[in-house]
Amino acid sequence: MLDNKHEYTVKLYQSELQLSLQLYENVSNHFRLFAFTRAGNIQGMTFSINLTTERESDNIIFLTQKIKFSELRNDDKEIAALKRRQKQILLCEVYRKMGFDVTENNDLILGIFDPNERKFVNTSPESFLNNFIAVSILKGHFQGNKGYDLDIIPNYQNIVTLDTSDQNISKDIILPDKVLQQKSKRIIPLAFRYKVLKRDNSKCVACGRGVNDGVTLHIDHKIPFSLGGLTELDNLQTLCSECNISKSNRFIDI
Ligand SMILES: [Zn+2]
Repeated sequence: MLDNKHEYTVKLYQSELQLSLQLYENVSNHFRLFAFTRAGNIQGMTFSINLTTERESDNIIFLTQKIKFSELRNDDKEIAALKRRQKQILLCEVYRKMGFDVTENNDLILGIFDPNERKFVNTSPESFLNNFIAVSILKGHFQGNKGYDLDIIPNYQNIVTLDTSDQNISKDIILPDKVLQQKSKRIIPLAFRYKVLKRDNSKCVACGRGVNDGVTLHIDHKIPFSLGGLTELDNLQTLCSECNISKSNRFIDI
């Protein structure tokens, strides 16, 4: 898939964004796929994903990224951490609305690759590349000091304003209840995701479409976790991103 050089120029508003993808192997044989971008004078690495192999799952390769921010600010340490957390919540929600598979643990799942069959089981190579480029551009925009501000997307600082003059800001006030809950049992392990995709023949159980039809597949709780549904194989199903979004509009899964 990455035998060729992947370089793209994306027209955005009145300027251009140049983007290149590169695959690296680090010292411990782990691979990372990087997106480098340049917008005007700002350039740098804006996004990367890990290629994770889980032993319990027949060496299936999961291409994932934890969505988080690490930038330092001049603010009070605690307030800076809260701002990063708010940004994380916002970007994860943007990705979900766009149809990306973002777990409750803030892991973005872009690709699940079966090396035996030499193919993705949750997406097509074309969708994978499209999605990788889209998430890289957005992450670059949201990164602030490392990335760039794209004119056509609202600036993060304008979306979320935090009154830092109040030194008594409490975490309980700023963070939604959702964030404060213990959610560990809600998280679907990567190995489960692969099993559910294989069981459902890599097809959406609602509309029957698969990766060859251009959809990206997600793993979903049939009965939402918030309504008592468990994270076990019987309660998990494969849905395409479109069916998953329309389902979450019916079930307010908080
Ligand atoms: Zn569907």
